[in-house]
Amino acid sequence: MSLRVVIGLGANLGDPLETMRTAVSDLSTVARVEKTSHVYRTAPVGGPPQLAFLNAAALVAYDGSPSSLLDDLLAIEARLGRVRRERWGPRVIDLDLLWIDGVAWESARLVVPHRHLRERAFALVPLLELVPDASDPRTGEPFAVPAGDVQSTGDVL
Ligand code: ATP
Ligand code: CA
Ligand code: CA
Repeated sequence: MSLRVVIGLGANLGDPLETMRTAVSDLSTVARVEKTSHVYRTAPVGGPPQLAFLNAAALVAYDGSPSSLLDDLLAIEARLGRVRRERWGPRVIDLDLLWIDGVAWESARLVVPHRHLRERAFALVPLLELVPDASDPRTGEPFAVPAGDVQSTGDVL
């Protein structure tokens, strides 16, 4: 059975929109991409002063384990030229496994739902655009969007 997964995309270096579109096309080689969200602009939180982030999300069906999906996401990030320097610093692409329908996962390298999902409007706004009734698999509680400065750019992926 496939996992139903929402992947969060973020970028603030180079040509973020173009890079996110390439990431979706790379994603479609490892998963079935069912829907993509609008693109949202967010002021960066934490880390050094840097350009505004663009964020979006993709709903995919994946035939494998959460941990092999994380490997695929990290490989796509590497292919698109991500170099990890400082935490929360600028990056060409960030692909996070935000949510898997009905699955709570906790290992040393992967926590799903993403550990900061509940407090991040820039992750929840695109996620709920794709799956309006998404809920926390541990409690069954639907997610609510916290306050935050997240604006649609009008673009789609
Ligand atoms: P944040 O986790 O606060 O969004 P980040 O995305 O900048 O920060 P990264 O440097 O991209 O952090 O990732 C660090 C590690 O986080 C990854 O190598 C991965 O092992 C781990 N990780 C744990 N849970 C997840 C998840 N749900 N999605 C993606 N990576 C995860
Ligand atoms: Ca992230
Ligand atoms: Ca990440």
